[in-house]
Amino acid sequence: MEEARDIAIIGGGPAGLTAGIYTRRSGVDSVLLERELPGGQAVFSPLIENYPGFPEGISGAELMAKMKEQASRFGLELRDFSEVRAIEETKDGKRLTTDKVVIIAKAVIVATGRSPRKLGIPGEEEFTGRGISYCATCDGPLFKDKEVMVVGGGDAAVEEALHLTRFAKRVILVHRRGELRASSYLEERARNEEKLDFMLNSEVREIKGDKTVNSAVVENNKTGERNLVPVSGVFVYVGNVPNTKFLEGFIDLDEAGYIITNGYLETSVPGIFAAGDVRSRDFKQVVVSAGEGALAAASAMRYLEKIGAKEAYEGDHAPQ
Ligand code: NAP
Repeated sequence: MEEARDIAIIGGGPAGLTAGIYTRRSGVDSVLLERELPGGQAVFSPLIENYPGFPEGISGAELMAKMKEQASRFGLELRDFSEVRAIEETKDGKRLTTDKVVIIAKAVIVATGRSPRKLGIPGEEEFTGRGISYCATCDGPLFKDKEVMVVGGGDAAVEEALHLTRFAKRVILVHRRGELRASSYLEERARNEEKLDFMLNSEVREIKGDKTVNSAVVENNKTGERNLVPVSGVFVYVGNVPNTKFLEGFIDLDEAGYIITNGYLETSVPGIFAAGDVRSRDFKQVVVSAGEGALAAASAMRYLEKIGAKEAYEGDHAPQ
């Protein structure tokens, strides 16, 4: 089944949903394709304290539910469980292939974000969901009064380690360097948290268990000494990888696989725009992704006008 649409948005996180709010509010025919359910990685954030408009903070799940509700109010069509597997240029537009439907879109906004990076060590695959987790918000309560390990030294690792101290008896943060990469305010909170211990200059080599995780092999990378550390859970926060596999060879990506754009969020292919964490830039924040969603929508609508696909839409869409 093939459908022709003016704008297809790929990805239902803050960037994609905001793009949809803007295109639909301008009355532009738009569909949002989401490989799972809308919300993106932000739904896993227990508390977002720096999204403007919520002085007391708001949980990621609640914020994303509000964005979805707002997009739906303007009539954005959300297609869940519709992963775009391939994209190609045709004379009628960009052809997006999902398992269920083929969409031919005049303009595309890619807002596919990124996914947690894996450690790639023995035991990781075997024990995922059986003690290994990539989401402390989802699985933290399962480890009440247990000892758990968090791997990583960035903001996510430290923030989630702090979150886990609410449930666990003890949290051990394992980081491969001698100092953390996390922001100083998070590091200070972590240093003052009694339940949180650090194993620095250390790398997890293997995760062991029976039915579920019972220990991790940790190596000190300065001395080479290995220790078997008894833990019931291992939470992995070692960064992320962009969801751009389906774009390889089609648009320009940077060396890490993130999409390269100009200031109008145009990619190397005319009519394709990118917004949010999938874009090649620093500072992955929900507020930045939402802002980029708005800008990508403006650029995409301007593109439609340029190719004569639509008369001018209401409002001024010229990117500033
Ligand atoms: P990140 O900043 O890239 O940190 C990843 C951490 O994992 C680094 O400490 C890195 O070590 C380590 N690492 C990478 N590969 C590893 C491996 N194979 N084995 C062991 N360790 C490995 O990622 P993030 O913490 O997910 O944060 C991503 C972005 O989201 C950042 O821009 C961050 O500021 C933002 N964020 C912000 C907040 C907040 O504002 N509260 C919360 C969460 C995330 P090295 O240091 O040695 O490279």
